[in-house]
Amino acid sequence: MDFPILKDLKAAKELIWYNENYTEFDKVKDKLPVSHEDVIEAEKRLKRFAPYIKKVFPEVADGIIESPITPINNMKSHMEKVYGKKIYGSLLLKRDDLLPIAGSIKARGGIYEVLKHAETLALDNGLLKLEDDYSILANEEFKKFFSSYTIQVGSTGNLGLSIGIISAKIGFKVVVHMSQDAKEWKKDLLRSKGVKVVEYASDYSKAVEEGRRLSDGDPNSYFVDDENSRDLFMGYAVGGMRTKEQLDNMGVIVDEDHPLFVYLPCGVGGGPGGVALGLKLVYGDNVHCFFAEPTHSPAMLLGLASGLHDKISVEDIGLDNKTLADGLAVGRPSSFVGNIMDKILTGAFTVEDYRLNEFMKGLYKEENIFMEPSAFAGFLGPILVADKYQNENITHLCWGTGGNLVPESVRREMLGS
Ligand SMILES: *Cc1c(COP(=O)(O)O)cnc(C)c1O
Repeated sequence: MDFPILKDLKAAKELIWYNENYTEFDKVKDKLPVSHEDVIEAEKRLKRFAPYIKKVFPEVADGIIESPITPINNMKSHMEKVYGKKIYGSLLLKRDDLLPIAGSIKARGGIYEVLKHAETLALDNGLLKLEDDYSILANEEFKKFFSSYTIQVGSTGNLGLSIGIISAKIGFKVVVHMSQDAKEWKKDLLRSKGVKVVEYASDYSKAVEEGRRLSDGDPNSYFVDDENSRDLFMGYAVGGMRTKEQLDNMGVIVDEDHPLFVYLPCGVGGGPGGVALGLKLVYGDNVHCFFAEPTHSPAMLLGLASGLHDKISVEDIGLDNKTLADGLAVGRPSSFVGNIMDKILTGAFTVEDYRLNEFMKGLYKEENIFMEPSAFAGFLGPILVADKYQNENITHLCWGTGGNLVPESVRREMLGS
């Protein structure tokens, strides 16, 4: 096996990779396993659940789990100063760190998948019709019905939070299998919601494997498969698709002369992959999506650049998969996602851990916004692409992916204040 960036990947160097397989979207979209209609279906399902979400999570005023987009001009100037480089165009931040219920991008995929499972069970058992007002799902009889079913998931943290919180609310029994890098406060929070947390002294892959094995042995148990789940992916794709309406409302033009560049922190790939597909469906070739990963965990980049997808892991090239970006500490990528991204992703890059810390402190100081380290992997993007694209009409969108549930004491420790 050899390909041009292998040496630098092995050496854990920062790099940007432009995808040589990138193809015009019109030529690939009909060959993808997920269509525009599928994503619209998923969006409709979320609308059916809005009355339920509103009832059980009153903080979600309209029952639609969504986050704002904001300009971060001070941060842009700050980054230009720190890096001595110009960022061409404007810089926006997608605030998935503020997503209600789960405080991270996992509120999109995770909650969608559990809702869909609950809907399927209720429909199949004749307890619910598509035309019903879904707020009835909050009734005791439904909770009792769901309590004979179990949901299980393996997670580095945030997916566990999202699946655990929504499943417990619906009334499911729920078991979260957590890898060693999962933070203590995440386990504590889940336990406080009645979620069973099983801890593993090994990494994410092992937690997933054990979770899957235990779930498969129980006919009433459903396993949320982060590596292969189409439903998770659909929930994320809805988020990508909705971006257009948000940018339209802000008066942000995206067309051939005004391209949109989006930078997405990537772990196993479902979150950034789903969002990227949703964006491509509405913007086609006018959007350029980039995945961002830690230099010690470039799982998706390795899978794409080698063409081996999940047949290779970062450990296979001598990397330790250790990073302070716990949401991105993944050694082996999803092949389901990798195959979809193969021709539609513009590129990917890696970033060193110390920068995540710098960006975190910078954004807090400049914009008074706190996010967790994983959410900053994309911030190097606008700096890196400036070597290739010097176009003042570019809109750069960094996808902030998490942080709202981080307890105050942990925040202070992270910020060193
Ligand atoms: C999970 C996560 C990601 C990446 O999503 P994947 O689906 O694992 O690629 C990025 N940022 C945060 C904060 C996350 O929790």
